[in-house]
Amino acid sequence: MTVAEVDEILRWAKPTRINVLGGEPTEHKNFEQILRRIVPSVSSTNLITNLLFSPSIAQAIDLIPKSKLTILANAGDLDVDDRLITFSRNWNHLCGFERTASLTLDHSRTADYYVKYVDALTSTMQIKTIRLSMMYPGATQDKAPYFINNHALGDFYWTIVERIVSKKIQTGFDCYIYPCIFKDPKKYARYANIFRLCNGAKDFMNNDEVLFCWPCESIRVKWRDYASYDAMNEAINKKYFEFKNRNLPAECRACDHAGKDCFGPCGAFKQ
Ligand code: SF4
Ligand code: SF4
Repeated sequence: MTVAEVDEILRWAKPTRINVLGGEPTEHKNFEQILRRIVPSVSSTNLITNLLFSPSIAQAIDLIPKSKLTILANAGDLDVDDRLITFSRNWNHLCGFERTASLTLDHSRTADYYVKYVDALTSTMQIKTIRLSMMYPGATQDKAPYFINNHALGDFYWTIVERIVSKKIQTGFDCYIYPCIFKDPKKYARYANIFRLCNGAKDFMNNDEVLFCWPCESIRVKWRDYASYDAMNEAINKKYFEFKNRNLPAECRACDHAGKDCFGPCGAFKQ
């Protein structure tokens, strides 16, 4: 996306809050310029980054007023080469900002892997909050399991959440975690407040398209077709719910949770 396109979207959408994400946004050749455009235009900006950048980028970010920017740092795959060193250097450099670490849980790994991973992260950095995402179909289709009634998946999430909470670190999921994956309903009930979140942010792409949210990649509109952000938002939400509500899986039609604490799989599972 060019600087001119960013300016255009800011004028059109008049957002109050923006997530700056990529790919890796700090690798954009105009990253600093774009950040300086966005930050004064909105009340808060959230930079979503892997923190694997040079000291000069860290210095540029550090010039932003601390009350205007939060950082969501993708802390996955740091057990490769010297990534943890770079990540923790930048994490510590940017200590004036509100920082959250995020982990996308790869189901081909074990809960024990993530327990050790969380231990390693928290032994080298002060982390107050870890945000978790589940690996969705779409870009990661080959790895996403069929989750309905998948109790092994419930145990996987449960073990990781328990480890994080035992360290007095706050946590939450970016996406719904479904009641049917817990064999023991008490396990769902205990963390229902963090299992029932749906980030659902609208993603502006570099070709005038807006996605309902990244894992629901087939739900998209062109923002230039709408007079305002609200009109576009209404249209894309309508499209999404029409899509999501068709062909509910048989398990959901027979499920006690249906229509109570669960409305079936989100659209990411129907791509
Ligand atoms: S719509 Fe689905 S994939 Fe998107 S944030 Fe909500 S639960 Fe997650
Ligand atoms: S409605 Fe479907 S997704 Fe939700 S808990 Fe029941 S079986 Fe699982």
